[in-house]
Amino acid sequence: MRDMDQKKNSSIKMLVTKYFSKILIIVLFILPAISLKTYSQQAKKIRTIIVDAGHGGADAGAHGEYEGSLRSQEKNITLAIANKLVEELKRQLPGTNIIPTRTSDITQTVREKARLANENHGDLFVCIHADAVALKTGSRIIGYRNETYTTTKWIGKGKRKKKIVTPHTRQVAIREYFKIPTTRKGTSTLIFTAQRTNEKIKALESSDLLFETEQNDSSLNINYDSPEWKANALLYTQNYFRKSYKLASAVQQEIANTGREDLGVWQRQKGIWVLQATQMPAILIETGFIANPEDERYLNSEKGQQEIAESIARALKKYKEQVETPKPASASVEINTTTSK
Ligand SMILES: [Zn+2]
Repeated sequence: MRDMDQKKNSSIKMLVTKYFSKILIIVLFILPAISLKTYSQQAKKIRTIIVDAGHGGADAGAHGEYEGSLRSQEKNITLAIANKLVEELKRQLPGTNIIPTRTSDITQTVREKARLANENHGDLFVCIHADAVALKTGSRIIGYRNETYTTTKWIGKGKRKKKIVTPHTRQVAIREYFKIPTTRKGTSTLIFTAQRTNEKIKALESSDLLFETEQNDSSLNINYDSPEWKANALLYTQNYFRKSYKLASAVQQEIANTGREDLGVWQRQKGIWVLQATQMPAILIETGFIANPEDERYLNSEKGQQEIAESIARALKKYKEQVETPKPASASVEINTTTSK
């Protein structure tokens, strides 16, 4: 019996080694997905959406700095789009609480933004930003100026040696330096980094984020060291990742429908603080490149801002309808942890 048990054990070990990656996938993704059905069957209603106009006040974010640029600042673009998005969402989702992080040009740290989102018990967090890239510097000749210089020659020898200094004039180019705009344009959406799941869990535990103003909240009794809490937190986080990805894809789809370049859904290796720190599915939309002439004009135009706001609102509406409608068991959402492009 013992022998057989040992054999059994070693063959199980071999199987585990052989199929380690598959088992890992099952443990990490499929099992939680099955358990998450309880969540989706409850069809959690999206009651509150937080709209964040990126940056603000002293933090201007990126700015148009290339030659011929509108010299616009990211904080103003994000505010204009966010304000329009809030209006659009209030119109399209009348029963839903739409909360902007800011409605004017105030300085607001990402910590404050995350705290606002958490304190208002947001079900979704949507950050509006505009992309920037490091620009190359070019130069051109804009004129010439005369420069005088001298050459020195010695003639003769010994005591009769004589120094002859001759002045000359030459033309020197006057150069002007300028930043070359980027050719990159289009919209991308970022979600929190799955590899940094621990931070999202920490955000769930973090008392100063969660219950700062709610001393009487019964959730204060949570024992964060309990295995139940840890398992639940991981489950929530995976659920948030799945939902964030789904929402991000929906936004990109709606943006693409307007004819704008769709740069896909991304994760940033080092993570994005505000996305990691919020206890809800969260996305960050890089609406366009402020360092690209076409995009900068589009982002500053009434038409462009309205078009982007409407696209995001449509995506949110579709997403809300989808998650609030209980799905049959077979129609589970596919988890895609890869970044596109
Ligand atoms: Zn930004």
